[in-house]
Amino acid sequence: MTLSRLDVADASAHILANVVALAEEHVPLAEALGRVLARDTGSSVSLPPRDNASMDGFAVRAEDVRGATRNAPARLTVIETIAAGARPARRVERGEAARIMTGAYVPDGVDSVIRVEDTDASGDVVLVRDERDALRNIRRRGEDVQAGAIVMRAGTALAPAHIGVLSSIGRATVPVHRRPRVAVLATGDELVPVTDFDAVVAGDRIVSSNSYSLAAAVRAAGGEPVDLGIAPDTPDALAEHLRRAEGCDLVLTSGGVSVGDFDYTRGVIAQLGGTLSLWKVRMRPGAPLGFGTVFGARWLGLPGNPVSALVTFELFGRPLVRALSGNARPHRRTIAVTLAEPMKLAVPLTHFLRVHLDSGHPFPLARLTGAQSSGMLTSMSAADALLVVPPDPLELDAGATLRALLLDGDLGGSGRFLS
Ligand code: AMP
Ligand code: MG
Repeated sequence: MTLSRLDVADASAHILANVVALAEEHVPLAEALGRVLARDTGSSVSLPPRDNASMDGFAVRAEDVRGATRNAPARLTVIETIAAGARPARRVERGEAARIMTGAYVPDGVDSVIRVEDTDASGDVVLVRDERDALRNIRRRGEDVQAGAIVMRAGTALAPAHIGVLSSIGRATVPVHRRPRVAVLATGDELVPVTDFDAVVAGDRIVSSNSYSLAAAVRAAGGEPVDLGIAPDTPDALAEHLRRAEGCDLVLTSGGVSVGDFDYTRGVIAQLGGTLSLWKVRMRPGAPLGFGTVFGARWLGLPGNPVSALVTFELFGRPLVRALSGNARPHRRTIAVTLAEPMKLAVPLTHFLRVHLDSGHPFPLARLTGAQSSGMLTSMSAADALLVVPPDPLELDAGATLRALLLDGDLGGSGRFLS
């Protein structure tokens, strides 16, 4: 059965239903950035392993420095100097102190580390001139990680801090899910690879930009793109190209999925034993979307228009790639935004409009990046986010609050500090 004309949320639920993460493999920690953890991961050790100093200074007993002031300092006997990585020689008794470095284990008997700035030391005597560090500046054993506790959940995409944590709990290799292999096939007699640009200059071809943008989007989502090239618009050529997708975990086609005279993709999928379980989504851009299976893998038939292809990939393809990768958070985040300009929609479909975001209160201000034709890829490249405009009402005033799906505009960078 083929579901048709679903709402975006229903289409997403259908496309992501029953996705099982790919098998586990082990990678060296240094190569784990961006990979998705395949198992809940616990620690066999506590971190820090022992109580240690968070300042360079003097390890003391609080009772010995209470009431100390600049003019009436506490006077203590310095029994040793403890460097980071060294073991304290002995317990600190009343009236005693140990000079200590940041990260060094504190000796028994102490409960405070007095910062160097509040002391005057000479020989084996130290004067403590302030009591403000009494009971302070000690990092407790296990305050970061408790031995036996789960530190990180399966499904976590590994960022630099995760890599750091995994190293500190002794994981030199990490169990992650295999990356999905994602076939990318362009269809259309008018298309050439970028290396045949002469044909574009001559005037009768265009570059198959989807081949490049989709491969890049697959990579950015954590998949491995497999380029199946460009299939001319004949059923045989299409079938021949599609056969090369065998063994992939996901098949992306672009174009040929609509109702034009040369739109053969759906027919060829069926001819190859595939299925079509969903066709057309109530959205713009991107309405003529197909979803099903081919060669036992999921098939996502994206529209050909360059913006439609990328927008539908963002909404349905990227989450699929991430779910196959085991990622517990397959979807892009959305945030509340304020419309900076009035808006009028032509049809009652969910629109995904390319917008810039500027700072604003209480929410960022969303402004269109330019004309919204689904062939205008430059307005997609300029977008920070896709503004999600529900099908109803068709007219919105400036100041209205909507949601926007954040893209990696400028790959997440800003030209200004802290903005
Ligand atoms: P189609 O869905 O095949 O009818 O294509 C719709 C529009 O998208 C047409 O203008 C195509 O030329 C264009 N198009 C299709 N595939 C690609 C592609 N791979 N790269 C760039 N434009 C494409
Ligand atoms: Mg076409």
